[in-house]
Amino acid sequence: MIHRRSLKEIDLMRLAAKILVETFHIVEKMIEPGIKTIDVDKAVESFITKSGALPAFKGYRGFPCSCCISIDEVVVHGIPNSRIIKEGQLVSVDIGVELNGYFSDAARTFAAGTLSAEKKRLLKVTRDSLCKGIEQAIENNRVSDISRAIQNLIEKEGFSVVRDLVGHGIGSSLHEPPEIPNYVDDKREPQPRIQSGMVFAIEPMVNSGGSKIKFLSDGWTVVTSDRKPSAHFEHTVAVTDDGPDILTLGR
Ligand code: MG
Repeated sequence: MIHRRSLKEIDLMRLAAKILVETFHIVEKMIEPGIKTIDVDKAVESFITKSGALPAFKGYRGFPCSCCISIDEVVVHGIPNSRIIKEGQLVSVDIGVELNGYFSDAARTFAAGTLSAEKKRLLKVTRDSLCKGIEQAIENNRVSDISRAIQNLIEKEGFSVVRDLVGHGIGSSLHEPPEIPNYVDDKREPQPRIQSGMVFAIEPMVNSGGSKIKFLSDGWTVVTSDRKPSAHFEHTVAVTDDGPDILTLGR
């Protein structure tokens, strides 16, 4: 069943999202060559807890940290550690915040120093594909309209969509129905009809090479099978009568 949230509930999620956006302001300033990913994670955890919220990823199915930091060929779910960020790397940071029982979830990919032209293009296309998907999060569309808009842009630009991981509903838990794939899958019929009050975490994961991924032996880290770079952007978006409301813009 897909929850439809009241305006009051959406406002509670907006409060969690506000803290998440403020956390990203700190992260954005920290991401540069020479910093350890664990130090970014410590700053994330400290800011979220000082704000009276909880880092939603910490302890989620045993995840050890407060955010995921995924560099270059790491698609998602990179575990912060003593790895030092280097010049020219793509650094994706994914953060979840829980406040008063409601959740928000967002990811952004940052440039450490100066990126190659190809990585710069990958970052831009991934961000743009998220915007295209969000535009389709409107009443009476189907979830597959979001998927199609994302996939079309990515494939037009010659990149590939990760298929084994998908976006999701979000609300009083981090992951709720429906699944929101970043590609159209005819086997997933019938695709749910979108209604106001639904809240989605839309999150294209885009590979510069092939779409295949692998899990590393830590059980979390997801890398591209061809070890080519990957980027990830995510917003928590509420469907309203006035169209999509991007909660993780912090407004
Ligand atoms: Mg998510």
